[in-house]
Amino acid sequence: MVTTLYKDFTFESAHHLPYVPLGHKCARLHGHSFRVRLEVTGPIDPHKGWIIDFSDLKIAFQPILNRLDHYYLNDIPGLENPTSEVLARWIWEQLKPQFSLLKSVSLKETCTSGCIYQGS
Ligand SMILES: [Zn+2]
Repeated sequence: MVTTLYKDFTFESAHHLPYVPLGHKCARLHGHSFRVRLEVTGPIDPHKGWIIDFSDLKIAFQPILNRLDHYYLNDIPGLENPTSEVLARWIWEQLKPQFSLLKSVSLKETCTSGCIYQGS
C-alpha cells in the first residue's frame, strides 16, 4: 500500500527579486513567513505501520532549515533570485539525496501564494 505523508515547517526570511520589472514591489527588500510542506511517498512498513518516522524527516530537514531561517536568501548560493519556484527547487535539491522517498516540496510565501515542486 503506497501512501503519502507530509510534514510542515516554517521559517522567516528576507529577500528581494532582482529580475522583476522596474517599480515592482518585489524588487524592494522584504520578508516572508514561509511555510514548507514536505511530502514523502512510499510503501507502509507492514510491521511498523508507517512509511518513515516523522522525526527522521525533521532531523534531515533541520540543517537545511537552519540555512534559511532569519537569513537574507539572496546571499545563499543558488538563491540569488529567490522566487518561490527557485526556493522550492533548491530545498528539493538539498533534501532529495538524503530522502529518496521525497515526492514534493510545497512552499507558501503568503497565505494565498505558493508553489509545488515535484522534481524534474
Ligand atoms: Zn517576496
